Amino acid sequence: MEAKSLMNQAEHHMLHTYNRFPVVLDHGEGVYLYDTEGKKYLDFAAGIAVQALGYADQEYNQALKAQVDKLLHTSNLYYNQPTIEAAEKLCAVSGLDRVFFTNSGTEAIEGAIKAAKKYAYSKDGCTDHEIIAMNQSFHGRSLGALSVTGNTHYREPFEPLPGIVKFGDYNDLNSVKKLVNDKTCAILLETIQGEGGIYPAEDSFLKGIRQICDERDIILILDEIQCGMGRCGTMFAWQGYGVKPDIMTCAKALGCGVPVGAFVMTEAVAQASLKPGDHGTTYGGNPFVGAAVSKVLTIFQERKITEHVTEIGAYLQQELERLKSQYPCITARRGRGLMQGLELTVPVGEVSSKALEQGLLVITAGNNVLRFVPPLVIERKHVDEMIQILRTVLNCY
Ligand SMILES: *Cc1c(COP(=O)(O)O)cnc(C)c1O
Repeated sequence: MEAKSLMNQAEHHMLHTYNRFPVVLDHGEGVYLYDTEGKKYLDFAAGIAVQALGYADQEYNQALKAQVDKLLHTSNLYYNQPTIEAAEKLCAVSGLDRVFFTNSGTEAIEGAIKAAKKYAYSKDGCTDHEIIAMNQSFHGRSLGALSVTGNTHYREPFEPLPGIVKFGDYNDLNSVKKLVNDKTCAILLETIQGEGGIYPAEDSFLKGIRQICDERDIILILDEIQCGMGRCGTMFAWQGYGVKPDIMTCAKALGCGVPVGAFVMTEAVAQASLKPGDHGTTYGGNPFVGAAVSKVLTIFQERKITEHVTEIGAYLQQELERLKSQYPCITARRGRGLMQGLELTVPVGEVSSKALEQGLLVITAGNNVLRFVPPLVIERKHVDEMIQILRTVLNCY
């Protein structure tokens, strides 16, 4: 069917919650996507930081196909081997101790919040604990995740949101210190803010937050849904800071395309928080997604993905800096590894639309940032190709 009529159909039958790019994507190969008309796109969006291995990776696809033929789903009432292996590998790479698999990022946040609340409740039996989150953060769209998302536009229509949540300013330790009291049960932040505009935490900020949490037995929750899974050059971004969370959330690239997330915690938090009956999910961590996560983690190790990201991320950063020095409409570059942003004075939405026309998928963050979250397997030549297309687009301004 023709792309136009497909898009028409979509607008008739699907809830209009997205203003989608006018393209119907059909298949992918490596770091390229193809639409139904056969047009080729270089992908620097990766399905929003999901497709770390790019498209049509044979080893990954074969593992999924084999699991489809074997067993898709059993429920969490029974054990299954792929998910046990996935959990063991996730603990090994994170140095954390216990995993709960979810179907999405927002559910991972829900679970992390519940664990932190239960931990505090177990200590004092009170039900009025507070959470400190950050302005300009993003943690998902379900009500619990929205309650800790520091973006008025996303929150306001859905108020009142559950729980008592206070917002500090990212990278401003004093603004957080002022909010801490005896009721604070958790401090939650993205190690590198994604949707808000690609803001990495400063070293002293993250270390300062860890210290507050240590002193007052407050749970530190780091949201690694976007910045984790090798994207910043270490398996998880916090590993590059030497600061360890009590609970970490993962999703996006964890399954490289299958819907899976996780919250992962220390043994100490696990022992004093969620117990049988406190939390559950029908689909979460079923054998199919377990096989995906297990294979992804094996591939990451075998192909030394984090080393590759460190190398190619430095190259991307250097080329973006060069671009910035040549185009006055670029006012800042921020990011780590293969999670980069350019702040522009020209409309970023328009820039990404024009890039699409030129065969480049690139997305935005905040209201003035062009966001680069490509598959982690990109090579230098793909960076060069992206920069060239971006030049063509920016030359219009
Ligand atoms: C995408 C994202 C989420 C939400 O994940 P979903 O799978 O869309 O629910 C939460 N936190 C961060 C940092 C994200 O980037």
